[in-house]
Amino acid sequence: MVLLVLIHFMISVYMHHIPEPRFRRRTLPLSPPGHLEKKTAKMKLLTLNFLTCAVKTCKSSSDSFPLHPKDAELASDDVDVNPELLVNLLPRLDWKALKTTSAELGFPQLPDSPPTIEQLQSDDKLLKDLHSLLMETNLMEGKLVCGVCGHEYAVREGIPNFLLPSHLV
Ligand SMILES: [Zn+2]
Repeated sequence: MVLLVLIHFMISVYMHHIPEPRFRRRTLPLSPPGHLEKKTAKMKLLTLNFLTCAVKTCKSSSDSFPLHPKDAELASDDVDVNPELLVNLLPRLDWKALKTTSAELGFPQLPDSPPTIEQLQSDDKLLKDLHSLLMETNLMEGKLVCGVCGHEYAVREGIPNFLLPSHLV
């Protein structure tokens, strides 16, 4: 009897642990022979929500974040919507900084306060808009300017250069 209960328990635990495929898998195109495909780096707009000036004395000032895009060239990407990722991301976002970045890049104005997780989960358009802004928008070329020291970090082919000139280190 105990054994039966145990077996039943094991089966139910096992059944609960079968992962369900949650998201559509994307089939990758075959690489051309010899890997001739040019790898292009992409800097998602989301990244700007986590970058601050590398100059030590700027770190203590709230004006060193977010960095301000200048002469920005954007590229849009087609990425599968991942609602779970966005829901997890939401509490980690600095909404005020995102609002600033988004406005500086000419996107429609974001509301003053972030949506709640419940709002995000129940509003498909909101989810799609936020996904498009954070995950599909890439900064390809331009500069990121610190609001304190004015240093301009160059972004080329989707890669920001955070190496500082010797007098700023
Ligand atoms: Zn700075």
